[in-house]
Amino acid sequence: MTTTAIIVAAGRGTRAGGALPKQWQPLHGRPVAAHAMERLAAHPAIAGLVLVLHPDDMKTALWPRVPASTVVAGGQTRAASVQAGLAAVPEGTTQVLIHDAARPLVSQAVIDRVLAALENHAGAAPALAVTDTLWHGADGRVTGVQDRDGLFRAQTPQGFHLEPLRAAHAQSTGDETDDVAVARAAGLDVAIVAGDETNMKITTPEDFARAERLMGNQMDIRCGNGYDVHRFGPGDHVWLCGLKVPHTRSLQGHSDADVGMHAVTDAIYGALGMGDIGQHFPPSDAQWKGAASHIFLEHAVQLAAQHGFSISNVDCTLVCEHPKVGPHQAAMKAVMGSYMGLHSDRISVKATTSERLGFTGREEGIASIATVTLVKP
Ligand code: MG
Repeated sequence: MTTTAIIVAAGRGTRAGGALPKQWQPLHGRPVAAHAMERLAAHPAIAGLVLVLHPDDMKTALWPRVPASTVVAGGQTRAASVQAGLAAVPEGTTQVLIHDAARPLVSQAVIDRVLAALENHAGAAPALAVTDTLWHGADGRVTGVQDRDGLFRAQTPQGFHLEPLRAAHAQSTGDETDDVAVARAAGLDVAIVAGDETNMKITTPEDFARAERLMGNQMDIRCGNGYDVHRFGPGDHVWLCGLKVPHTRSLQGHSDADVGMHAVTDAIYGALGMGDIGQHFPPSDAQWKGAASHIFLEHAVQLAAQHGFSISNVDCTLVCEHPKVGPHQAAMKAVMGSYMGLHSDRISVKATTSERLGFTGREEGIASIATVTLVKP
């Protein structure tokens, strides 16, 4: 048996909200369809994937981000789209699994059960028995109770032997809502196998949140780096990691020139993929002249929180010959932690000289590099 999976992604479903059809909206940062396709591609019994797209999507940059051996344009109806997929399966295919691109959480176990049932049936599909009481209703009132005995909620992938399904589709009216209906209309025997409650179909905006929760243990971890340099000028102190440190010169800059805090702030923006200090607080804007740099840091921390991230740890290195940082390390960690809402044991501030080499070695300025890790549970 050679199995090809056909992923039907030609729908325009916009009940999920947003400008894009739901299968192209991001779930954990990647298109919904990409999750579905990767799960099918990862199954050892599936030899290839055929992706059926809406004709309007054939030219967009969306679908190349998902792995497909063949990409074809769908038709006006779901049945027509499946038929386009069936016509495109690779030579040698003997059975197909037809899957809805809006079901990103399909498990290997569900696929196993469908494939096992195909050994004895022309078709097989996962479903869940209805456990809620079902009502008839009209005008906001219950008008009757439906016996739920023998009722199932259908899922995908729906599996079929290729030739009988092709023959069934040749007789399709085009009105069927899934391939089981097409197969049954042609008299094919379709087995029900156990579905999975997590194999949900994304339909509404709430479904995205639920799917992300179900993917839950796939924590989103981000790493970002930042680098900054400020030159020395006349003065009697420098600001380093939120601390005013007496020195024979001062660092020059549009703000208070806190080179360490700037590197940490840029590392947070970097982890979020959201620009840098210069973009959020343009030097051309007079209101940031002489600004205390914790304004920038607090903004970056807030932006991370707004996107569901907390800061796991910070590591900042200052590169200078003088002033000596060691005596101030503990105070710097404490003050940085207070701006970030982070215990100081998750913050590292350390320093190195550059062996008197280069601009830092000649004491023309101070450089700083920083790394942060953001975590979204
Ligand atoms: Mg700077």
